[in-house]
Amino acid sequence: MTDCIFCKLAAGVFPSNKVYEDDDVLVFHDLHPVAPVHVLVVPKTHIESLAHAAVEHQALLGKLMLVAAQVAGELGLESGFRTIINTGAGGGQTVFHLHVHVIGGPGLPAGIVGVATH
Ligand code: AMP
Ligand code: ZN
Repeated sequence: MTDCIFCKLAAGVFPSNKVYEDDDVLVFHDLHPVAPVHVLVVPKTHIESLAHAAVEHQALLGKLMLVAAQVAGELGLESGFRTIINTGAGGGQTVFHLHVHVIGGPGLPAGIVGVATH
């Protein structure tokens, strides 16, 4: 077992506020939600970031997207939702285990959060 917090959540070492789980993927509520709905779609396999994903992860990456859409529907985000993958320190990533943020609900601003306009 590594020191990776998301590996530990995926392995059930630490409890998570889980909304979906299968053999490959765990989805749980973000500890610090930025929107009325904010969940993280996490592969159970440790992949440090999207930049570390390889061809062998191709099917898993696709599955993360399908699960993201499925869970968004189940959480009532019929009108839409936003998916975000922060990659690397320069991309705002703080937990270095690949994850897809799914955020949505009333009040979600249009556009891409965090991008400064010049
Ligand atoms: P990122 O900045 O893209 O790496 O996102 C990491 C996210 O993980 C942040 O939104 C944190 O709030 C969230 N987070 C960190 N630790 C936990 C945890 N134990 N359970 C749920 N969410 C967490
Ligand atoms: Zn991990």
